[in-house]
Amino acid sequence: MIELKYSQIPNDGEVIEVENGELKVPDKPIIPFIEGDGIGPDIWRATKLVLDSAVEKAYGGKKGIKWMEIFAGEKCYNKTGEWILDETFEAIRYFKVAIKGPLTTPVGGGIRSLNVTLRQVLDLYACIRPVRYFEGVGAPVKHPEKVNMVVFRENTEDVYAGIEWDKDDEDLKKIKEFLKKEFNIELREDASLGLKPISEFATKRLMRMAIKYAIKNKRRSITVMHKGNIMKYTEGYFKNWCYEVARDEFSDVVVFEEDLNGAEVPEGKILIKNRIADAMFQQILIRPDEYDIIITTNLNGDYISDALAAQVGGLGMAPGSNISDEVALFEATHGTAPKYAGQDKVNPGSLILSGVMMLEHIGWYEAANLIYKAMEDTIKSKYVTYDLARQMEGATTVKTSEFAKKIVENMDKFLE
Ligand code: NAP
Repeated sequence: MIELKYSQIPNDGEVIEVENGELKVPDKPIIPFIEGDGIGPDIWRATKLVLDSAVEKAYGGKKGIKWMEIFAGEKCYNKTGEWILDETFEAIRYFKVAIKGPLTTPVGGGIRSLNVTLRQVLDLYACIRPVRYFEGVGAPVKHPEKVNMVVFRENTEDVYAGIEWDKDDEDLKKIKEFLKKEFNIELREDASLGLKPISEFATKRLMRMAIKYAIKNKRRSITVMHKGNIMKYTEGYFKNWCYEVARDEFSDVVVFEEDLNGAEVPEGKILIKNRIADAMFQQILIRPDEYDIIITTNLNGDYISDALAAQVGGLGMAPGSNISDEVALFEATHGTAPKYAGQDKVNPGSLILSGVMMLEHIGWYEAANLIYKAMEDTIKSKYVTYDLARQMEGATTVKTSEFAKKIVENMDKFLE
């Protein structure tokens, strides 16, 4: 067992192992959590209650999560003088599965964002965001119930890799001179510059993960979203490399839209198709039921996952996860909403649903389904936090903790 200075390792829990790429989950796994800043403590309290209750109800005490607090953000800074600790990374690496609330981005001090740091240090290369509709939530489209998609966004490359220079940077002047001299490429003197790396390695490992996810979760199709008609060697190759993985490594389970010529997808096969990014934004609005998993580059992924979440009226409820081959970190996708901190007011839905993804990730589907059903039931009865209440007619506005307690109560309706 590893040794940690600031965190107390529960002595009645066990470690999740990875064997041949598969998780081996004990009945009492130790799962580290970062409470988060701002509204973090409010939504974490609610989330813990819902997750623990669902596991208890689904497995009658046979299974249970042994939570272990780890530190990052303001709480960490106040406790240790650091914004994030080496042992926080070590603990997530060691225990394999973790969950976090939102974190304040420190101003100054050399850290761009704690979230980006966590993703980079742990090489969490896939950002996975499922988007589905919960009946009763006010949505801006006529048929939000047709949206049931999962976005696989590449997390480490693209213009988001942070390789960029200020227009006045001396290094950029050298780069401009080099480009002019060697390639006769002339950039404006007052232009800043960013680079867009897209590699075969990073693309293929993401597509591998998306196909395995599709198989495990019985999803129907994977659409590669790209802007390869314009950016041929980055976005275009992203599409090609995704197709190569499907063709070379999963030919027994996939079928390509291009080969079907309009025929039906054979039973049990996963359809692989591709769409240009701008067209994809139309497609998710006008033909949402034709799309399932979307795999895309970092920037496209950022845009499309927020657009989809907004389409179902649930931007404040969208769950997320960042995953590598060994480690998975589940997180609320919104920020710390500091003006509501400590008021027991905000919607804990995003963190609860991230917890549901976590339960699915460790194979505890019975508990996960119980939460989905109970949450849907609670929202349908219009017993909701202020943000959802303002999108509904005749809603009862409740506190964060009341919403969570109601979800737990409603679970009993769905016990088998
Ligand atoms: P934010 O915290 O997401 O809040 C923006 C607005 O979104 C809130 O004022 C509120 O809207 C609504 N909102 C957010 N979470 C909600 C919830 N759980 N329930 C109901 N409504 C919710 O964005 P921000 O104000 O731009 O960022 C604040 C801090 O969070 C910054 O330090 C930022 O760096 C950090 N941040 C962290 C993460 C992360 O850790 N993953 C992500 C984004 C931002 P109304 O005012 O309309 O009620």
